[in-house]
Parts: sequence; structure tokens; C-alpha cells
Amino acid sequence: MKGYDSLLRNSFNWLKGIPAAPGLYIGKSYIYSKETIVIKDGTIDDVDEALAAFREALERSKKELDKIFSVAKEKMGEQRAAIFEAQLLILEDPDLVGVIEQRIVIEKREPESIVKEEFNKSMGMMFDADDPYMKERANDIEDIRNRIIRNLKKERWSSTIISGTIVVSEMLTPADTILFSRNDVKAYVTEHGGLTSHAAIIARSLNIPAVLGVPKILEMVETGTELIVDGFYGYIFIDPTKEQLEFFRDKIAHLDEVNEGLKELVDLPSVTLDGVEIEIQANVDVSGEVEKIATMGAKGIGLYRTEQLIEELGEFPDEDTQTRIYSDLSSRIYPEMVTIRAFDLGGDKTRLFHPSEKNPFLGLRGIRFLLDNKELFKQQVKAIMRSTLNRNIRFMLPMVSTVKEIRETKELIKECEAELQTSGHKYSDKFQLGIMIEVPSAVAIADQLAKEADFFSIGTNDLTQYVMAADRGNARVAGLAQAFQPAVLRMIKLTVDAGHAANIWVGMCGELAGNPLATAMLVGLGLDELSMSAPSIPAVKAAVREITGYDAQRLADQALQMASAEAVISLLQAHQ
Ligand code: PEP
Ligand code: MG
Repeated sequence: MKGYDSLLRNSFNWLKGIPAAPGLYIGKSYIYSKETIVIKDGTIDDVDEALAAFREALERSKKELDKIFSVAKEKMGEQRAAIFEAQLLILEDPDLVGVIEQRIVIEKREPESIVKEEFNKSMGMMFDADDPYMKERANDIEDIRNRIIRNLKKERWSSTIISGTIVVSEMLTPADTILFSRNDVKAYVTEHGGLTSHAAIIARSLNIPAVLGVPKILEMVETGTELIVDGFYGYIFIDPTKEQLEFFRDKIAHLDEVNEGLKELVDLPSVTLDGVEIEIQANVDVSGEVEKIATMGAKGIGLYRTEQLIEELGEFPDEDTQTRIYSDLSSRIYPEMVTIRAFDLGGDKTRLFHPSEKNPFLGLRGIRFLLDNKELFKQQVKAIMRSTLNRNIRFMLPMVSTVKEIRETKELIKECEAELQTSGHKYSDKFQLGIMIEVPSAVAIADQLAKEADFFSIGTNDLTQYVMAADRGNARVAGLAQAFQPAVLRMIKLTVDAGHAANIWVGMCGELAGNPLATAMLVGLGLDELSMSAPSIPAVKAAVREITGYDAQRLADQALQMASAEAVISLLQAHQ
């Protein structure tokens, strides 16, 4: 990264955000804003005409959503696209449509204002809920409401962009991210949102550079402004200078060459120059990603986030449905392994039967929720046992902070076994049971936990937020919430050492695992496995193949002695 520092020091035309999906792009911006709509109110003369206009607006909205649904299916697979199918169902809800039509007839008022009032009734309750999941659903309903109103106004729905541009917006919904990708969007930049938001995860799987949480970007940029987007380091250069353009054009040319070379890596083993093997696996968040894994050179799945299924299906999948999904996954990945993580519900993720919590991140999340809702948990455990007949499934518990949680899970597994015997289903109890290390208490007692678990996988996203006491989704504390903080690196080291002392393998599935800048250091820290989103795999594998175990260890030792995240990053950049 020689030259980058001086580029930053000698200019003021740049902003810094969170690097959310890797890649570089130079091009024109397109400001995407959801304009506020002015709602027509007042009485109408012709009720029939108003009813016809409302029905036509509904039809048009359905057509639009149908289109989004089919693009989503094509890009992300059937299951995840179900989010959009759920939106279609709201449009077809006979009760809602009936009430609106009735009110148009009786009150003789503008359909726009009646649509607004009816949708707002349900949204109001959701926005008021002290619950991020419900707030997200309210946003969905708001989207549908605006779509109908816009169609009543016969305005074009502007979710199309000028193709081949950089989309700059306040925030991005999963629907925006999908739709724009169809218009050949080159990069995403937003004012809000973080590394682990859905939009970021989708951008990474679609391989589109993204920088999120860039303060004041909308004040500085308009449609057509030339930008440089650096999804590796999170910088946005506005109206770049000749020097900046030259610097990044060189980098892009170099990157293209490297990417060409990376294609050859797919079938090569992930070993260091002196023969230490580092297993490289894929994180799967979106069903459509499973196909891509083999072509990116992954050895199986290191993290399958099952809570996504609830998002995709719109409901909690029962034991049979889960059995079907996990069995299918197991045979598609066979003979490689797939690590299925138990539902990580709560926090800012999906919340099922959760009480309202003042501090959801410190509340009933992950394994805590599951042990509090044993009947739900049992359905998942039984589905895992029924699906692991190929013996290639590992089961992993999120948010473990005590030994008791693993012991209780083992008791529950025994109960499930007895129930499966009674029900006569085929099952196996031969699967590894591992835990995520993502809470500081788990690091502190890693030696105890290692006696109960078959493996550890370090979740640096949460570990960082809990170690640094800095919300992973809050752009204001993004500087603290980064895994290069020496405090986090020391936690990783303690975990690996405790795991190895107890003869269990230690992997990592947080975002740090997919950052090629960190690869040499992570190898040096002793990680046995790294799991990341599929597009990051070639670059990380290339980094593994370029070092010796000895050099990696020396680098890790140096990093552990650094006093700041910036010093760690400089050290690693100098090594690249
Ligand atoms: C993590 O916390 O690092 C992790 C991999 O889990 P998630 O991002 O799903 O919370
Ligand atoms: Mg986590």
C-alpha cells in the first residue's frame, strides 16, 4: 500500500467508511433516493373511477414485485427470494384490500390517503416495537405502501438506475441491492449500514465492491460526480485528482492481473510454502451461494447460518422441513464437510417469541434463546441427526459463554435420540459438536470449553463488538469495532492456544477470515481453518500459498505486540 498514505495526507477530497465488500471501481455516481411522497387528500366525485384507479395501482405493484421476485430467484435462489414473495402476499391480502375499497366508497376520499392510513396502522405498531426485527418488517410494509401510492400517482417507480454506475444512497434494502445488480451496478456506497448488514453480505456474494456507513456522502456527491470506490480500505475519493486516478488505475490493472492468476488457484491446495495446510471453507448466507462454492475452490462450508432460513421462509421451519434442507445440503457438499450453526436468533437478527429487551445484544441471543425454547431447539437437533447419515455434518452453537450451555445441549441431544428411536426415524449421533467463540467469557474459559467441544470457530464479528464494547453496526464506533484491534488479536491467540492444548481444531468464520491482509497473521496465530464468503477465497488462498509457517508466526508475534489497530494494519501492509 505504498503511496496510499501520502495520497490521503496530500488531499481532502476523500471520505472514509466501512469497507463492506472488496474491490475497486472508478466511475460516475448515481444518487438513489427514496423521495418523500406528497399524499393527495380531500374528497372525490367519482367513486367508480377511484376504485378502478386503486385496482390498477394494485395490479401494477404486483407486476413490479413479481419482477423483483424473479430476479431475486435467479440471483439468490428460491428460498431467499421468499422475502419478496411475502411482500406479494401482503398486496393480495383480501382483508386489507377490502377495507380500503370499502372506505373509498363510504368516505369518498382520495384513495392515496386511505391507503396511507390503513398501511400506517400496522406499521405504527411495528415501528414502536422495541425490536429491530419488527422494525425491519415495518420497512417492508412501508415499501409496499409507497409502491401502491406511487402507482396511484402513475409515477414511475425509480428503482432503476443508470446502468454501469456507482449507487450512492442513504441506505440499501436487500431488494435494492438485488435490483440494482441487474442494472450492472459497479459499486455501492451508503451513508448508513455496516459490515454485517444484509446489504453488505449480499454485495459480497454478488462480488460488487461496497463501502457503507460513509458519513455525509450525500452532501458531497450528486448524480454524475466522478468517484473512486475502494472496497478494500473503505475510502471514497470525490472528483479525484489526476494523481489519484493514476494511482487507482494502476491498482485496478494490477488487480485484474491478479484475478486472472487467481482462477488457476481453484484446484491448488491451500498450503504454506513449507507445507502447513490451512483448510479454506465458505460461509453460506444465501441459498444460491452453494453452487458457487466449488468453483471458488472451497473445501466445504465452515458456517451455514440457519437463522437465514427463517428470513427466507418467513416462518420457523419444522423438523421435517429442516431435515429436507440439511440433507440436501449434506449431499450437495459431500464428501466435503458442512458446519451447520444452530439458530442464532435475537440481538439484531430475527427475533422469535422474544420479550422486548433493552439491550438485545446482551440478551436472549443464540444458545441462550435456544435453551430457553427447548422444543424449538429440539426440532433443529433432531433434523441435524436425521440429516447426518453421510457423516459430513458438524453442528455448531452460537454465543456460548458457559460450560453449562454445552452440557445442557448434550442432555438435549440425548433426549432427541430417545425421541427419534421412538418415532422410528433413521438418524446418527456421530457428528462433531463445536462452538462459536464470540464472547469474551468464552475466551477466558476456553480451556474448560475445549474439554466439552469438538472444535472452536472464532466469530470475530461478535467477538470484536463484545471485546471492544462497540456495536458492530454503528458507523460512529467503526474505528473501535475492527478486528485488527490488538485486544481482539490477543483473544484469538488465547483461543487457539487453549484449543490446541486440548487437541481440538480451531477455525475462524468472522469477516476477518476473508481479509487477505490478515491471512499471514492468522496462519501465524495458528488457525487450522478459515471460513469466508466465496468470492474472498482465491485471494486468501493465494496469500496462504505465499508464506512459510515460520514467517507467519513471526509476523503474528509482532502484531500481538502492537499498540493500535492502525499499527497492526501498517505492519501487515508492509509485509504484503
Ligand atoms: C461472527 O460473529 O463473527 C459470526 C460469524 O457470526 P454472525 O456474523 O452471524 O453473528
Ligand atoms: Mg456472531
